[in-house]
Amino acid sequence: MKDKNYVLQMILSTALRFHWLGLGILLTVLGSVVASLIPPLVLGKVIDQLAAGTALPFSLIAAYFIWILVSGILDSSRESLLIVFGQKITHALRSSLSEKLTHLSADTLNEQEPGALVARFVGDVNTVETLFTSGIISMFADACKMISILFVVWTKTKGLALLLLVLLPIIFLFTRSVQKKTLAAQLANRAAVSRAVNHIPESVHCIRTIHTLGKEPYMEKRYDEYIGQCYRAIEKTNFYDSVYSPVILILNAMIVAVVMLFSASGNAGILAFFGMSVGTCVAIINYIAQVFSPLESLGMEIQTIQSAVAGVSRINHFLAQPERWAADDVPKDVPSHCVELRNVTFGYDENVVLKDVSFFVDTGEQVTLAGRTGAGKSTIFKLLLGLYQPQSGEVLIHGVNAATIADHAKRRIFGYVEQSFQMVPGTVKDQITLFDHSITDEMVYAAAKLVGIHETICHLEHGYQTECAPALLSQGQWQLLSIARAVAAEPQILLLDEITANLDAETEKTVLKALRNVSADRTVVSISHRIYDHTGGKIIEI
Ligand code: ATP
Ligand code: MG
Repeated sequence: MKDKNYVLQMILSTALRFHWLGLGILLTVLGSVVASLIPPLVLGKVIDQLAAGTALPFSLIAAYFIWILVSGILDSSRESLLIVFGQKITHALRSSLSEKLTHLSADTLNEQEPGALVARFVGDVNTVETLFTSGIISMFADACKMISILFVVWTKTKGLALLLLVLLPIIFLFTRSVQKKTLAAQLANRAAVSRAVNHIPESVHCIRTIHTLGKEPYMEKRYDEYIGQCYRAIEKTNFYDSVYSPVILILNAMIVAVVMLFSASGNAGILAFFGMSVGTCVAIINYIAQVFSPLESLGMEIQTIQSAVAGVSRINHFLAQPERWAADDVPKDVPSHCVELRNVTFGYDENVVLKDVSFFVDTGEQVTLAGRTGAGKSTIFKLLLGLYQPQSGEVLIHGVNAATIADHAKRRIFGYVEQSFQMVPGTVKDQITLFDHSITDEMVYAAAKLVGIHETICHLEHGYQTECAPALLSQGQWQLLSIARAVAAEPQILLLDEITANLDAETEKTVLKALRNVSADRTVVSISHRIYDHTGGKIIEI
């Protein structure tokens, strides 16, 4: 299936939103093309007047410099506007990628490679930016410049225009072939450099094994090879660089020489094509020098566009991935079990983890899920939280399909405590509220007091406003904070996943005491290898 072109849509909507910027770019592009054509014409006039021995008006000299200045100003304005436009596009793209990331289903997120995701956010978005700063628009400007130079040359001397029409495609092909070879050499160099750079940490990491097995000469030889590959690639790049410029310069000189020879010949037939005044001659030399630089840029612009197209297609593919199912249902207080699994079968990909599992927990009950490691206990919590949908059967919270419960309602329904604390960037208070403004300071203090960590927090340098860092609290204290986070929004159901597994006996006692406090009047489903004495309720074998 062909992906919808989200990137193109975003570019168009950004262009519409910042239409003044777009207009500015269009005007500066066209303006700089026209302005760059004028100075050689003025120069031609100056020379013609000098050759004819007439007095040179000051306005002509002033016009020459003013047009050069205008052309320079338009060029740099175009570049600046393009950079701003590129940044607007990048901003819009990165925002929508990040929004998409939060909307992806847990299933889809499971399949994402973190490295590939980073490449999408950084590398691919950058290629789209370069599409504007040095791709499509510069290509349009360069093409306009070449066509207009050819047109002006045609009006002055048809012979040269024809000669250029024949030569330019050949020079373009030569330029592309040199550019492709240079790029291949640069890529080879980059790969060799990264191999050489990685060799050092790899050697340090395995230094004991290297010494034990006497592999020092082998490692040195490998490093030597990598460095050799780097130098060979650099030599190639230098060779292409050093060949290209002289070839173009010589061609430039040859074209000028051929035109001059023809225009100096006395043959009337040749002169009809190549005849010109001294001034026109100077203007023509100027134009010939100008025609090569857009030709060289065109090659690089094609390169940029090619890599941007690949980037755009990868971004489109990412943005086309399925999002989480629509969720807007909120459980009502109808008589049903608080939590219920009915004949649930679920697996990640082909790997079936839960097979026809059924159980229920009634409101106010405190139960423990038990089972061997890998049985799927944590998976059941993920199903209850609506992160995944079962392949068959039903996962119900107060009779409502768990996956259809809206995100905003979830915190009032579930408090979920994981085996280890997941810190968010921010203050101690932020850890508890998770930036939910409906949780008041009073609720935060009440939660912290309930789990017995209020005093500890008050003794921190800035109390609840202390910025969090891993060394701020002990592992047990983090776990208490995690429980405070779970109960802050006063949820009806607590899901506890082996929350004391990493704690020593003393700390475990503190955490269990906190649990007893928060479990009163709540439905509690815990996973534990040890059966908490506070549950006292039923044990469900998975
Ligand atoms: P433990 O007691 O060790 O925590 P558990 O009963 O909680 O085990 P789960 O974490 O539910 O077990 O995992 C059950 C199975 O599902 C395991 O075989 C695991 O490899 C697999 N699994 C868990 N999470 C994923 C995932 N995100 N993607 C693919 N497979 C997964
Ligand atoms: Mg588990």
